[in-house]
Amino acid sequence: MNNSFAKKCRDNNIDCSKAYKFRAKHSDLTDEQIIEYYRNKKTIDYASIRLGERNISLNGLEMELVKYINSHDIDVQFEDGTIVYHKNYTNFKKGYIPHPKYKNCQYVGAFKNKKYFLCTCRKCKGKHVICIDEMRDFECTRGNHTK
Ligand SMILES: [Zn+2]
Repeated sequence: MNNSFAKKCRDNNIDCSKAYKFRAKHSDLTDEQIIEYYRNKKTIDYASIRLGERNISLNGLEMELVKYINSHDIDVQFEDGTIVYHKNYTNFKKGYIPHPKYKNCQYVGAFKNKKYFLCTCRKCKGKHVICIDEMRDFECTRGNHTK
């Protein structure tokens, strides 16, 4: 047990067992930051801690947390470059961040160093094979020319 940390907790009237659990979950924080968090919970800088976190969406695409206002207001960028706004951090951690154009995308392989995906399109409900570079600006034209 880290006695200096325990002493700091006592000195600041902080519940030691809670602080230890918190510290175990947040190994990127220093003891001082953890003490500061408990002294004034508003001062913790989640924005800089969580910014840049990556996860895989349940739709199959990688995503990165690119802006953090608070846990209910984050911006997320998918690996194709598409950014979605005002999402929830908990949903980000669970992968529940939908892409505006594709219901899901399944990686099919790389060709000439570019990743290709088989994507289920929200517009036509069908599937398209799309290179990652073209995914963001891809416009589905199926259905536009049918009677
Ligand atoms: Zn389509």
